[in-house]
Amino acid sequence: MIATINPATGETQREFPALSSAAIEAKLNLAWTTFHSYRHTPWADRARHLQKAAEILETEKREYGALMTTEMGKTLPSAIAEAEKCAWACRYYAENGERLLADEPVPTNASRSFVRYQPLGPVLAVMPWNFPFWQVFRFAAPALAAGNTGLLKHASNVPQCALAIADILHRAGFPEGAFQTLLIEANQVDALLHDDRVVAATLTGSEPAGRSVARASGSQIKKTVLELGGSDPFIVMPSADFEEAVSTAVKARVINNGQSCIAAKRFIVAGGIYDAFEKRFVDRMRALKVGDPMAADTDVGPLATSKIRDELHDQVQRAVAAGGRLLAGGRKIDGPGFYYEPTVLADVPRSSPLFHEELFGPVAMLFRARDADEAIELANDSPFGLGSSVWTRDESEQAKFVDGIEAGQVFVNAMVASDPRLPFGGVKRSGYGRELGVWGIREFVNVKTVWCK
Ligand code: NAP
Repeated sequence: MIATINPATGETQREFPALSSAAIEAKLNLAWTTFHSYRHTPWADRARHLQKAAEILETEKREYGALMTTEMGKTLPSAIAEAEKCAWACRYYAENGERLLADEPVPTNASRSFVRYQPLGPVLAVMPWNFPFWQVFRFAAPALAAGNTGLLKHASNVPQCALAIADILHRAGFPEGAFQTLLIEANQVDALLHDDRVVAATLTGSEPAGRSVARASGSQIKKTVLELGGSDPFIVMPSADFEEAVSTAVKARVINNGQSCIAAKRFIVAGGIYDAFEKRFVDRMRALKVGDPMAADTDVGPLATSKIRDELHDQVQRAVAAGGRLLAGGRKIDGPGFYYEPTVLADVPRSSPLFHEELFGPVAMLFRARDADEAIELANDSPFGLGSSVWTRDESEQAKFVDGIEAGQVFVNAMVASDPRLPFGGVKRSGYGRELGVWGIREFVNVKTVWCK
């Protein structure tokens, strides 16, 4: 079902029918024909449209923020900040896109040799609900800057965000066919990937969805970028600023109501400070205010769907059954809406399946490590490798973590965050490819060698 169901109340507010095959065909045609003219638009026009999109996002951030909160439950201030971040990405590519894709001379024995970056065509973006604007703009801004056209299959629970994003880009001046939202179900994606007019795909979401899109794209020899799950470690060593580490740990766990791929999920703390950390962390998690995501003083809003809450609760129960200690929370909150108590688990056995699973909600797992080597070993004992945060003022330890952790990102004395200037992505089952920065804009281009005698 493609619908807006307010997670704060559980009420269905709007439903949308999935597009018919004929409507999809019309949109595919438009994406294809538009690509052949849009790819020749002067750079200045693309940059102007991106600047205008940034302006619209900033001017109307409260309306868009409220829409995100209504559809998926993130707190209103964080939703407004998300609209601002999208504006930042649009501006970054407006200001830097031309430079990032300029011809690149490579000296050889030719009289002239260089690399030219050219757009590929219509790219399908399959996106998740958790950052309903940001996930889309971090694909759309570089893709449009590079001269590609985009087709968005957004998550079924954020249809109004999906429509709003296409509307913003059209009002900003991009032609209608440059970016289109397809309100379709997940089972309609495969056919799109088998259509010759879709030349590549990017998916942010779960492992099963990633596998399915990669399989279909692979069968058609089409490039994919996959941004999948994560179970980021947050490592605290004795030399860390303890108070800052604890307060950032709580923030890094409950950001976006706990539903962020780069939220810290496994807290690995050096033995000497473990007990003090556990106590302070548990106290802080218990003190969080769970409630209406529209209210200014709410720390944690509801989970996005009833199903997500059920799955999270099942994981917590399995952790306890396997021998994990429940230090806080562990219950669904009664009443309307999909609220869950901020929860802390400790000593979840490494032999239990949960140890290797992603917890997509406000549930933290704490672990004790003897030293930096054991912390790295625990951190790397995960199928995922997205982000990581390490807290130490010891420079040799910092170097050890930067080198030893298997992840797409290592943040030292800070929580993991995306930034339009830096690459974002993972290793292992967190996916492949990179978004943002120069790396993101060059994912969907033909890297053409030119050699002239
Ligand atoms: P999801 O169920 O995989 O959904 C993501 C998108 O994929 C939705 O548009 C969904 O459509 C679609 N989809 C689902 N199954 C599909 C299939 N078999 N074929 C094609 N499309 C399919 O993920 P989610 O629960 O919304 O998002 C949470 C996951 O995303 C977490 O694992 C999180 O860590 C990950 N994530 C990763 C990043 C990153 O950058 N690495 C960022 C954010 C989130 P429907 O809604 O219609 O099912």
